[in-house]
Amino acid sequence: MTAKLTREQIVSAYTQLLGSERVITDEQTLKENSVDRYYKVENVFGIYSLPVPAAVVKPSTPQEVAAVLALANENGINIVPKTGGSATEGGLETVIENSVVVDGSTMNEILSIDTENMLATVQCGVCLEDLETELRKIGYTTGHSPQSKPLAQFGGLVATRSIGQFSTLYGGIEDMLVGVETVFPNGQICRIKNVPRRAAGPDIRHLVLGNEGTLNFITEVTVKIFRYFPENNRFYGYLLNDMKTGLAILREVITQGYRPSVARLYDSEDGLYHFKKFSNGQCVLIFVAEGPVRIADATGAAIEEIVASFGSAERVDGALIEDWFNNLNWDVSKLEEERIEIRETLINGFTTEISGNWSVIGDIYDNAIARIRAEVSADFTLLGGHSSHSYLNGTNMYFVYYYKIDVDPTLERTTYHDPIQNIIVEETLKLGGSMCHHHGVGKHRTHFLAEEYGSSLYMLETLKAAFDPNGIMNRGTIFPLTK
Ligand SMILES: Cc1cc2nc3c(=O)[nH]c(=O)nc-3n(C[C@H](O)[C@H](O)[C@H](O)COP(=O)(O)OP(=O)(O)OC[C@H]3O[C@@H](n4cnc5c(N)ncnc54)[C@H](O)[C@@H]3O)c2cc1C
Repeated sequence: MTAKLTREQIVSAYTQLLGSERVITDEQTLKENSVDRYYKVENVFGIYSLPVPAAVVKPSTPQEVAAVLALANENGINIVPKTGGSATEGGLETVIENSVVVDGSTMNEILSIDTENMLATVQCGVCLEDLETELRKIGYTTGHSPQSKPLAQFGGLVATRSIGQFSTLYGGIEDMLVGVETVFPNGQICRIKNVPRRAAGPDIRHLVLGNEGTLNFITEVTVKIFRYFPENNRFYGYLLNDMKTGLAILREVITQGYRPSVARLYDSEDGLYHFKKFSNGQCVLIFVAEGPVRIADATGAAIEEIVASFGSAERVDGALIEDWFNNLNWDVSKLEEERIEIRETLINGFTTEISGNWSVIGDIYDNAIARIRAEVSADFTLLGGHSSHSYLNGTNMYFVYYYKIDVDPTLERTTYHDPIQNIIVEETLKLGGSMCHHHGVGKHRTHFLAEEYGSSLYMLETLKAAFDPNGIMNRGTIFPLTK
């Protein structure tokens, strides 16, 4: 649908709906809301090139969200849903003129913590760390710990299918989400109730999970909570000569049925970056066993036995791994310092995360790294990766690449990031893997959507046409932009 209102009319209509205090139009806020990714050149160098949104609006109830969306739906206004703002793949980029960013961060109440049914219900703008802090005070945990925990909020966590560091035990957000309330572009508010399981037709929670703001706006989330036994945590670290042995060990631990909360394997370059003190340029394999003491002990003993059965791994002190974990989460307070460092050194980087079955993941890793080295002309300060989330059938690979920006900073993405990400995705799809493991499609991987989905693209496109017939929800995200 083409836009029916001018920029001024859009601002005026939303001001009438929400009042001027909740319709933000100052130039700097609008610029900052035209992009995501904290270390993008736009944010680092202050060079904003995308169309800036007409306004950032802040509804405070599901009914207000419904009115905001309905107004956009009737008038062809592109809506970009937002909560914590920690997206990395362009999901928050306002690529359409006169978009409206709908910021749910003021809906930030923890509504209930129900320790009998093991549920916590929060509004979409509750920061994960805030809920986690409240739960830990009473001996519980969400089990969810993405590195962006200090910033990410529940709307975005659900909308991107996020996953945390303890996923091997607790799963990703899709395993944690019990019920949800969400609003569709026509203003329809839908609630999916909280029950332990259901078989009444398809699981419609998956129309909400991972929709990246392209189908509906999430207003309330209920997640599982778990008992928390940090005193039982056991930390294990090993040095290995090669990735394939590490992947084989991960596979053995998981397929034997053990569920350490953390199971990670770093290649030599990424290992050196994270574990300077002890990695000596080798691959680093890490496990954490947690839970009730008998389970933690049994899991830990099995890990030691399985690793020993592969012969060549050298054990490192578990205290070093524990110390590393305690400092792993993103420290938002250092953001400005880090931006200054990027401006001074011109060293920046990106990541690309994919997944594949056990039989192909090692080849995806080898082939992608070999092609990047051969085809991308860049002064790399780090080119490597790690596996951080393992499953019965396979694992993910999180490629990390840092380089010196030797071009005009505005060309950074097209010179370095896009070619590198394209190689990783091409090598993944070639061997049947998935092009995104947890950051979402955003706006930067949409050109691979048809190949990723194959014949099932029909299902995805039909959902979009049914729920967002006027195409107002986050255009250019997940679904490639058409003229
Ligand atoms: C330093 C850093 C570390 C990270 N580590 C991890 C990690 O370990 N694991 C992981 O999974 N991700 C990680 N991420 C990515 C990101 O933090 C997560 O994807 C997170 O879930 C996004 O939540 P948010 O509230 O910040 O969402 P936002 O950035 O606000 O939005 C993300 C996407 O969801 C949509 N959206 C936001 N709110 C809503 C809503 N209410 N309804 C519908 N759609 C909505 C947006 O349009 C956008 O497409 C990391 C990011 C950074 C910057």
